[in-house]
Amino acid sequence: SDHRLEYPISPAHMDWSSHYPAFVDPDPTKTNLSGARKLTKDVEVVDIGCGFGGLMVGLAPLLPDTLMVGMEIRTSVLEYLSSRIHALRSQQQRLKNRAETSTEPQPEGEGAPVNDDDVGTTKIYPGNFENITAIRSNTMKFLPNFFAHHQLSKIFICFPDPHFKARKHKARIVSESLNTEYAYVLRPGGLLYTITDVEEYHHWVLRHFLHQPEEQREDGTIPDSSKDLFERLSDEELEADPCVRVMKYETEESKKVTRNNGKKFVAVFRRKADPEWS
Ligand code: SAM
Repeated sequence: SDHRLEYPISPAHMDWSSHYPAFVDPDPTKTNLSGARKLTKDVEVVDIGCGFGGLMVGLAPLLPDTLMVGMEIRTSVLEYLSSRIHALRSQQQRLKNRAETSTEPQPEGEGAPVNDDDVGTTKIYPGNFENITAIRSNTMKFLPNFFAHHQLSKIFICFPDPHFKARKHKARIVSESLNTEYAYVLRPGGLLYTITDVEEYHHWVLRHFLHQPEEQREDGTIPDSSKDLFERLSDEELEADPCVRVMKYETEESKKVTRNNGKKFVAVFRRKADPEWS
């Protein structure tokens, strides 16, 4: 349960150095509030409820200079993913060492995602998976402990547990109060990606990110809410975004839905600028 979850008292206390050793600032005097070594850049992308990590493994070579973290509440799943990332990094290191001593040309990963059997990969990928990590956390409670205001450029919520029964809806990771937190940690222009195979949950997502006609008061005004801070991307924008393809085809859950010929409902929202106070 939660009392066994570790979390920093603030983002400035978070020790990321062991998660991204390749990105630790070479200056050892640069430390954060808990005395941990600082990184050369901030973590920018979060996969909420990342499961076995297919999204991050797929995104890692596409965004090799961007630090990404998957957050997952289940211990066994998190342990699997941590060793998966560790194995991918070691494999890349071995391939790089071999390339340095060999005169043969080495195959290069195309920036394409690797597959389930990725640990058997023989290609060198941009970023070498040094830019992804995973943390055990309950994102419903601790997201602002890890990320500062406007720190993130992307949040992914892929195939969230549907919690079908109405009395379980409060367990959904899309809600008015959680969306306020997502808006807080996302920077203006940042994107929040969602995908589900449950059509009713897709409509729930749309209702919770966008104002609905029935919210309008008699005087024509709409109550302020986190919905003021999001706008939905068009289909053309989704087509042009390679992250959407990874989300649709590379997460473990999306592969399951593909195998079962299920439908996938995608909605991506842009974090608008903060309103100006007059
Ligand atoms: N996103 C992955 C994918 O597309 O393959 C996994 C989807 S799975 C249906 C949902 C995941 O969210 C599970 O692994 C579950 O343990 C995790 N999860 C549920 N609630 C969570 C929470 N509050 N914090 C972190 N992870 C959570």
